[in-house]
Amino acid sequence: MKLEIYNTLTRKKEEFNPLNKTSVSYYACGPTVYNYAHIGNLRTYIFEDILKRVLLFNNLKVKHVMNITDVGHLTSDADEGDDKVELGAKREGKTAKEIADYYTNEFKKNLKDLNILPPDLWPKASEHIKEQIDLVTKLEKNGYTYKTSDGIYFDSSKFKGYEILAKLDIQGLKEGARVQENKEKKNITDFALWKFSPKGKKRQMEWDSPWGIGFPGWHIECSAMSMKHLGNTIDIHAGGIDHLPVHHTNEIAQSEAATGQQFVRFWVHGEFLLIRDDRMSKSKENFITLDTLKEKKYSPLAFRYMLLMAHYRSRINFSWKALTAAQVALDKLRERVYRLGPAKGSCPQYEKRFIEAINDDLNTPQALAIVWDLIKSKEPAPAIQGTLQKFDQVLGLGLRTSKKDQAVPKNVQEIIKQREQARQNKDWALADKLRGELEKLNYKVEDSKKDTIIKKY
Ligand code: AMP
Ligand code: ZN
Repeated sequence: MKLEIYNTLTRKKEEFNPLNKTSVSYYACGPTVYNYAHIGNLRTYIFEDILKRVLLFNNLKVKHVMNITDVGHLTSDADEGDDKVELGAKREGKTAKEIADYYTNEFKKNLKDLNILPPDLWPKASEHIKEQIDLVTKLEKNGYTYKTSDGIYFDSSKFKGYEILAKLDIQGLKEGARVQENKEKKNITDFALWKFSPKGKKRQMEWDSPWGIGFPGWHIECSAMSMKHLGNTIDIHAGGIDHLPVHHTNEIAQSEAATGQQFVRFWVHGEFLLIRDDRMSKSKENFITLDTLKEKKYSPLAFRYMLLMAHYRSRINFSWKALTAAQVALDKLRERVYRLGPAKGSCPQYEKRFIEAINDDLNTPQALAIVWDLIKSKEPAPAIQGTLQKFDQVLGLGLRTSKKDQAVPKNVQEIIKQREQARQNKDWALADKLRGELEKLNYKVEDSKKDTIIKKY
């Protein structure tokens, strides 16, 4: 069945087939590791995960690369300000490497909690300095660069079609600009490829280059790492919509100016997570982390469920009410799935509808509606189970066929046993105390007349 994905480059849904038939080259812009990711950031990574799972479901192989930005991302998009990771190091009294390692690790924990499949490669900007210098050297040779007092810049007026991806109105940008922050820039859309270390200031991360000691601009890392690990032309590059007018536009310009080849065939962008109708963002301090959801006893997968109820290209508002509704729906779904028992066979009609939905530009709200239709259908329970297990390869909601599957750790099992004993002895105070202990370990206890159900948050 044909797979269609919305390509920002053409502003159309297009049939997707990888260049080399069976294997997809897939690059996704990764995190800048100077702080915890917020759930807005995580929406983007969940959308990218659904995209990857849909490709896999279509029997395609996927080579997925996600970079780690540990140097060069400055506090302003106009190539001014401090390096975010160095700033984080100052804030916490640690080295830049310690900051980057810590937040990379925290990010990976978030992905695991959200059932996001890890990429095949995690290249770091700081470990690809040579590749970035080589790319800037090529651009210099091809006549696209100029030097200012603070770095080497890309001359965007020399690259034909610079405005295409984002449909930029360059004249409007010029007129709308308040004061051009960097007076040495020839055009408002020019950007730094290599920045010099500020005079009289020692940076933690700096390298020698043909132009002087400094560090790479932010955009160049993605081009250098994408080309190195996936080739000059790749199938898909994904990211959040905010990257469209600057970061991705610059990636295209510098890559294609260097190679003369198309950089990316499909650009796929996910919309924002909002809070009270405003974009969730670190700088606005209106953000929420996954740890906060967990502290409030929500399951990370309830957040995933909440996002799947909307299409990735529509904005959604985060609210505790919506998250609570998602948690209730997910708990109910899991309950129904346990009760179906072991899987055998499948329901082809429903599978066909499901594939049609996800292959229509990742229509997850439709896919979830089909899940519920199937559960409520008169199909035999083992066949429903078989089909739901397949659907979960795309949804990633951790739907299990039995309680045993939940792999409850030994210490938790021990507390459950003691609690059952306490209940038999009618020692309600002890039973309540043990329930508290289980909750601290993120296990929710539900007693019914027949048995006790233990669920992980
Ligand atoms: P950063 O670590 O700041 O580079 O951001 C990581 C990713 O999160 C990028 O792909 C952004 O486009 C994305 N992002 C940032 N804010 C939001 C938001 N409110 N909703 C969805 N994605 C976002
Ligand atoms: Zn990038």
